[in-house]
Amino acid sequence: MRTLLLTVAISLLAAFTSSAPAQQTDEQLMLKHFHSISSEEIAGWMAEICSPEYNGRLAGTPEYLAAAEWMAAKFREWGIKPAGDNSSYFQWFDHPYTVVNEPGELKLQIPQKDGVTIVKDYKAPADFYPGMNSGSGEVTAEVVWVGYGTTAPELNYDDYKNVDVRGKIVLMNRDVPFKDVRDPDYAKWVKYCYHQYKTENAARHGAAGMLYIDGNSANPNISYIENMIVTGIGPEPLSDIFAGLGKDNKALLDQVDKTLKPASFATGKVMTMKANTTRHPEGRTCNVAGMIEGTDPGLKDEVIIIGGHLDAVGNAGGLLVAGGLDNASGVIDIMAAAKALAASGIKMKRTVLFLLIGGEEVGLLGSKHYTKNPIFTREKTVTYINLDMVGNGTGLAVSASESCQGLMEHFKNANEKYIHRPMKVSASRGVFYGRPRSDGLVFLADGFRTMNLSTTDGVKPVYYHLPGDDATSVTPEIMEDVAKLIYLSFIDMANAETLNY
Ligand SMILES: [Zn+2]
Repeated sequence: MRTLLLTVAISLLAAFTSSAPAQQTDEQLMLKHFHSISSEEIAGWMAEICSPEYNGRLAGTPEYLAAAEWMAAKFREWGIKPAGDNSSYFQWFDHPYTVVNEPGELKLQIPQKDGVTIVKDYKAPADFYPGMNSGSGEVTAEVVWVGYGTTAPELNYDDYKNVDVRGKIVLMNRDVPFKDVRDPDYAKWVKYCYHQYKTENAARHGAAGMLYIDGNSANPNISYIENMIVTGIGPEPLSDIFAGLGKDNKALLDQVDKTLKPASFATGKVMTMKANTTRHPEGRTCNVAGMIEGTDPGLKDEVIIIGGHLDAVGNAGGLLVAGGLDNASGVIDIMAAAKALAASGIKMKRTVLFLLIGGEEVGLLGSKHYTKNPIFTREKTVTYINLDMVGNGTGLAVSASESCQGLMEHFKNANEKYIHRPMKVSASRGVFYGRPRSDGLVFLADGFRTMNLSTTDGVKPVYYHLPGDDATSVTPEIMEDVAKLIYLSFIDMANAETLNY
């Protein structure tokens, strides 16, 4: 009797599955795993990866590697195949790094009429931010304003021309006096925009210290120079330096921008800078790469890559920047989609590569390493989709380079059919001559078709490269929908007979 019932049940089930159209079954399967993507799980992963255990995931540190291992273990658990070096999940490269042991000091000496000198002591991170790649030591010297810190003989421009900065502290701004990044002439200036160039140029001119007016937040993307102390400064020390001089930073920059003539000068103000750092020349770091191989013999060589940077800006002697929005959000959006895609067992004709990038914050090193050592050739890459700070807001946005605007349809359709968020769809800006500031731009510059996913209408304050950027800086609900959007549009793109770029 029992056997008979079971037999009947099995044949009924067989009748149901065989009579139901295959597509319906696929859609049911797809929806089941679509609904498995949850904001609760996402919030849990955010808390994990932003915990003090990973110490702000600075590229090169053991704590970054621990985060990379954690991600790789998830890939392994979900059956996502390793795509890195020697059948591992990791793509390694050398990366010397610096640890800031304590926030250090910044002081201004204010001489009084009676010969007494008052010392004003500034506080980190409100007034200054320790240089994340600073040399270690102490300097007390006069501050010399050097505009943009740029020496460009071929452009007849030199901020150091009429000043002697040997043994002194230079005070400088980001960027260059030429401002229009869409003007082809900008290309001549771009090499002078890099923070690394500015530190190196200051050292070449003999400066002992560098005060960088760079937003007063963590910036590990400067060059390490053993004998030079670097600190980011905020509005208060800046206005104290200019006090009584009859000049101000902004007005001077406006003048320099207008005339393309430097206006550097010695301020007469004396400051003390102190930094305590440890250099690790032996450092190595890695990208984490996992893939779901395509099932179609003719299409499996084609790959769709989704990537975001796993590294963050570290911990400057207790100033821990956990990198919540920037960029645990992007990485965890990718992980949530990866888990659902792998668990669903839905066949995808094309291959999907999940690329968690190391060393973005220290100069886009992970994406540069990938484009020089691609796992799949550029020709076989459908598109590289970048996620950076994708987890704050209520709306979605998708953009694509000129070479693949047709692919945005897959995202638009997925949103219209299943997600229903407001979504902006746009062609990414055309020619851009500026300093690349995202992994996506590194791929684009190397000739890859690229796309960008982001969230709009932020509902939480953004603490860019500041200690407030922790696990609570995101909205897990929008992250759930970003992961769902990736999940659905990837199934769609991976299985399309032909892709319309
Ligand atoms: Zn970022």
